[in-house]
Parts: sequence; structure tokens; C-alpha cells
Amino acid sequence: MNHCFDALILGGGAAGLMCAMEAGKRGRRVAVLERADRLGKKILISGGGRCNFTNIHCQPEDFLSANPHFAKSALARYTPADFIVLVEKHKIPYHEKALGQLFCDHSARDILAMLEAECRAAAVSVFLNVEIQEVSRTTEFVVRADNAEFRAPTLVVATGGLSIPKIGATSFGYDLARQFGLKIRDPWPGLVPLVLESDDRSHYCDLAGVSTEGVVSCDGQQFREKMLITHRGLSGPAILQISSYWKKPQPIGIDLAPASEVTADLRDPKAPRNLSALRSQLRQRLPSRLADRRLELHPPASWTNAALADFERQVHAWTITPAGTEGYEKAEVTAGGVDTSELSPQTMECRNIPGLFFIGEVVDVTGHLGGFNFQWAWASGAAAGRAIQD
Ligand SMILES: Cc1cc2nc3c(=O)[nH]c(=O)nc-3n(C[C@H](O)[C@H](O)[C@H](O)COP(=O)(O)OP(=O)(O)OC[C@H]3O[C@@H](n4cnc5c(N)ncnc54)[C@H](O)[C@@H]3O)c2cc1C
Repeated sequence: MNHCFDALILGGGAAGLMCAMEAGKRGRRVAVLERADRLGKKILISGGGRCNFTNIHCQPEDFLSANPHFAKSALARYTPADFIVLVEKHKIPYHEKALGQLFCDHSARDILAMLEAECRAAAVSVFLNVEIQEVSRTTEFVVRADNAEFRAPTLVVATGGLSIPKIGATSFGYDLARQFGLKIRDPWPGLVPLVLESDDRSHYCDLAGVSTEGVVSCDGQQFREKMLITHRGLSGPAILQISSYWKKPQPIGIDLAPASEVTADLRDPKAPRNLSALRSQLRQRLPSRLADRRLELHPPASWTNAALADFERQVHAWTITPAGTEGYEKAEVTAGGVDTSELSPQTMECRNIPGLFFIGEVVDVTGHLGGFNFQWAWASGAAAGRAIQD
């Protein structure tokens, strides 16, 4: 069977659906071709099932990219306020959690239902279970699937990254970019738990479930948030954030007692200087089990001022060199991707291939934790959707 449209959008996730509804609203005949048996599976599992759909403090600094300026234009033209207008139009109840993060009160299903309704209203055609065999370009783009052929002058690639292969992530977008001769910035798993080296693992991982606030730093970046000990290493928001910047074999620095001086009271000449006094101070800053473990592993060499200063320094500069990450199976996002130098920052269209667009996670723009990745999906999807010609 042959289908002709103004635009074909490959991938019915966050970016693809936003692009489809924006283009459909402008009278374009749009088809979304989705490989899975339903749209937006990742939206449904996002934010612990409540979808952290945007962040009201979104700034270009909240994104990693080889070109930190690339995302600015799209982010400025489709803002968190624009998405909130849509959410409120659909009467979806939401709330702000910490740090400007907006979540649904009830379920991520509300966000998906909203996007589906907007696509229906814009007469977008949706094809599910589409197994794409080949994409070619003659006078227009031709997408050959199992039982059908789709043609359009515009092709938008919105197939996401490599994270969570068990819900259908594929390298399709990168492969297609390579087929068209576009540069790729090698992808890597981002927002992902870290795995510790065996020594650190045996020292700490029996404390799995213990969490504390820390300042975690690597590669000139730092995040002050909660971190969590897991059965194989470290996780929690601070660790997920820094993981996007980490490359093996860089070390990661952890300040376990941010903005506090653990040994201050012990320096008072009248105060007792012994293990139990130090333990009591450390337990005021760290969960008891972690405080006791630090003392067991790194007790002060003596009770001199110099030894206490050295102990203090170590508490603020725990250095770990992770063995690796938990990989794409556990990564919330894929960093790297289609090199932004190939794309127009205003429209996401390839500079050298008119009609070919890349949007969302497949592009080398990766958000911090906290609703930024969806904001990029909405903003890049809207930029392309508004630029699609008849
Ligand atoms: C567990 C988890 C929780 C997350 N929570 C949040 C959160 O709360 N807030 C936030 O901002 N971000 C969150 N993210 C990140 C966010 O989900 C993604 O960044 C965002 O979905 C990317 O949108 P996208 O449209 O580019 O890709 P996706 O949403 O991944 O959509 C890509 C679509 O393309 C389809 N596809 C793939 N290959 C093909 C093919 N060959 N042919 C046709 N279709 C194909 C896929 O099935 C999928 O439907 C989370 C991610 C994960 C994994």
C-alpha cells in the first residue's frame, strides 16, 4: 500500500508527537510511524509514572552539548510556560516538586492522552507496529516498511536514543544519520547509576539504601543533591547528574558534609578529642551507618590539629574512580548523538539535506535531571513542526 503525506515523523515519543501536532495544526498532512504497539511508552514510565514534564527554571545551562549555544533558539521559542498552557488547557492537575520540577498529580498517562488528543484534533495519522526496512530519498523521502510504503517531501527523525532497550530503544536514528552522511557525536549513557570498583564496593555496598546529601563533582561540574548507596555502587539525583559528565577513568569528588566543619568542636582545647566525640559529630552530618563506616575505614591518624585537618579534608573530598555505569539498561537518557553543526538551531532541519529534520534525544543535546529532557523534546519538536512546509 502507498501513503503520501506532507511529512513523515519517525517515532511517536515526546518529540515526535509535539512535532506532529504543531505541523498538523498548521494544515500539514502528517503521519507518525511508530515501531511499538503504542505511542509514548517512555512518557508513561517517566518521573516514576508521574512524568516530570518540564522545569520552570529551564535555562540553556541545564543542557550538555558539544555546542552549548545550539539549544538556545528552540528553548526560547517554546518555553516551559508554553507547555504549561497546554497542560492547563487539558485540565491536567500538576504540582511543583523540588527545584522547579513539574509533575502530574495523577499519572503520566494524562500527558500522553493530551498529546494524543492534540494530534487527533490536528488530523495527524498514526501508524503503529511499523517495522521500517529502508529509507531513501529521490525527489522526496520514501520509507519502506513491511507492508506499506510512505512518501513525503519532509522526513522528521524522532526515534530517541539508546536508553532502555527493553521498551524499544534502537540505534535507528544514528544509523539513518550516518546513511545521510551526517556526523554523530558518539553516544554514551547519561543520568545513570555508577558502579564502584571492587574495593569500594566491598567497603560500602552492604549499606545499600543509605542516602545522604552531598556535593558531587567531575569535569568542572558540580551538583549538590541527594546520593544513594546501591548494591553495586552509587545513585540518587547528585550521582545521576554527574554521570552525564563522567568518562572513564576520570575520578569523581564527593563532599560528604557540604558547608559544614565536622571537626570544629573537637578543636576547642576544652573539648574531648576521641573517637566517640568525632563519631557524634559525623553522625550529625551523615546517616549513622555511613558515618560509622567512614570512621572505620578512615580514622584520623592521631588527635593532633594536623591529623584532624586531614580528616576534615577527606570528608569533603572523598574521591572515587567508578568502574563504569549501569549502562543503557538503566540510563534515563542518551548523551551525544547527531552533531548539532549539521542542523539549523531554528528549525532542526539538516543544513545540507532540505526536508530532513532530527529532533529530541537523538540530537546531541542532553538535559540535566529534572524535566529538562522533556522540555528539549517539546522545544525541538515544536521548532521542526512549525517549520515543515507543504
Ligand atoms: C525511566 C525514565 C524516566 C524518565 N523520566 C523523565 C522525566 O521525568 N522528565 C524528563 O524530562 N525526562 C525523563 N526521561 C527522559 C525522557 O523520557 C526522554 O528524554 C524523552 O522521552 C525523549 O523524547 P524523544 O521523543 O526524543 O524519544 P522517545 O520518547 O524515546 O521516543 C522515541 C520513539 O521512537 C520509537 N522508535 C524507535 N526506533 C524506531 C524505529 N526504528 N521506527 C519507528 N519508531 C521507532 C520508540 O518506540 C519511541 O516511541 C526519562 C527517561 C527514562 C528512561
